[in-house]
Amino acid sequence: QTPSKPPPLPSPLRFSKFFQSNMRILVTGGAGFIGSHLVDKLMENEKNEVIVVDNYFTGSKDNLRKWIGHPRFELIRHDVTEPLLVEVDQIYHLACPASPIFYKHNPVKTIKTNVIGTLNMLGLAKRVGARILLTSTSEVYGDPLIHPQPETYWGNVNPIGVRSCYDEGKRVAETLMFDYHRQHGIEIRIARIFNTYGPRMNIDDGRVVSNFIAQALRGEPLTVQKPGTQTRSFCFVSDMVDGLIRLMEGENTGPINIGNPGEFTMLELAETVKELINPKVEIKMVENTPDDPRQRKPDITKAKELLGWEPKMKLRDGLPLMEEDFRLRLGVSKEK
Ligand code: NAD
Ligand code: UDP
Ligand code: UDP
Repeated sequence: QTPSKPPPLPSPLRFSKFFQSNMRILVTGGAGFIGSHLVDKLMENEKNEVIVVDNYFTGSKDNLRKWIGHPRFELIRHDVTEPLLVEVDQIYHLACPASPIFYKHNPVKTIKTNVIGTLNMLGLAKRVGARILLTSTSEVYGDPLIHPQPETYWGNVNPIGVRSCYDEGKRVAETLMFDYHRQHGIEIRIARIFNTYGPRMNIDDGRVVSNFIAQALRGEPLTVQKPGTQTRSFCFVSDMVDGLIRLMEGENTGPINIGNPGEFTMLELAETVKELINPKVEIKMVENTPDDPRQRKPDITKAKELLGWEPKMKLRDGLPLMEEDFRLRLGVSKEK
């Protein structure tokens, strides 16, 4: 009797798929604001092993301190513009500075991170057969001429402006994702993230919610950039993480908008922060920066239909949670 032919040896790269049921997940940029909340959520599932790679440009080990030393967790100092060899099943690719003052600080590096960094993560996904999710941005719509923005809108982006390193960088990253998908059959997911806020935001990153809360707590004027009628829509970070995980686990490549459709002018935001956090501070109009989009609000029809997702946290409920975290970090107690 001839023994049945043994099955072909699995590629050593895919051993985790054969010998354990754990899911090994890479989070690039996992020491950052959204990344660290995503890691917290992924670590709640005991079947997940999480590897974070981060160069600590805008993120911090402190955001991950509760996981350091945990047997299912690993933290690697690494710049995604360099090749990376790890064996994983899923890749959440977040690495990229997100705040205008940081991404404009070294625009060439921002482009390299978006283009070479994404290319490397796609090369890795191809080699190990991993599914990869890119955190793209509402900035791919530029200063939008359609409102609210559906995923079908191609955008209105200045290719040579000071924000272009980020906007165009993310647009190329999306193109790379789809080309690897079409050419190499890589499983991709693209989230277009709209403005997100919550605990652990970098206090001095210049973004509007972190600026206003820090200013209110320090008793400084809230700096509204002119004209103040420009709008944004703010999503609380726990809602964002829930949307990203649903997108990764679902069957749709995207791009899918993930954001909160509640739209506010910057003056309204300042007034809300003033009312909730420190009614004594004044609101001061200051100069704006070039190419500031005048309005932004996601159309989330696709996220609702395809992911069964919509945000739950209202701005008025989310701001106090962020206030609490900022008070702790700034050392400002409630009764001043
Ligand atoms: P963040 O700056 O807090 O996190 C980004 C992380 O990436 C940081 O930890 C940083 O050190 C790391 N990083 C940057 N360049 C790197 C490199 N070359 N190699 C390795 N690590 C690198 O920003 P965030 O708000 O958490 O944003 C996360 C992702 O979400 C980004 O891709 C951003 O473009 C996207 N996004 C965020 C928002 C938002 O409102 N926060 C909106 C749209 C899109
Ligand atoms: N890459 C990586 N890790 C891997 C496999 C590839 O960082 O496990 C990088 C590799 O260095 C290359 C990029 O991903 O720069 C694209 O890889 P791909 O195999 O698609 O292209 P090629 O190497 O053939 O140019
Ligand atoms: N903004 C403001 N005051 C600040 C910082 C920002 O009025 O102290 C405005 C800014 O002009 C923009 C909006 O807030 O219209 C959002 O800016 P942010 O940098 O937070 O995010 P992005 O422009 O990337 O959406």
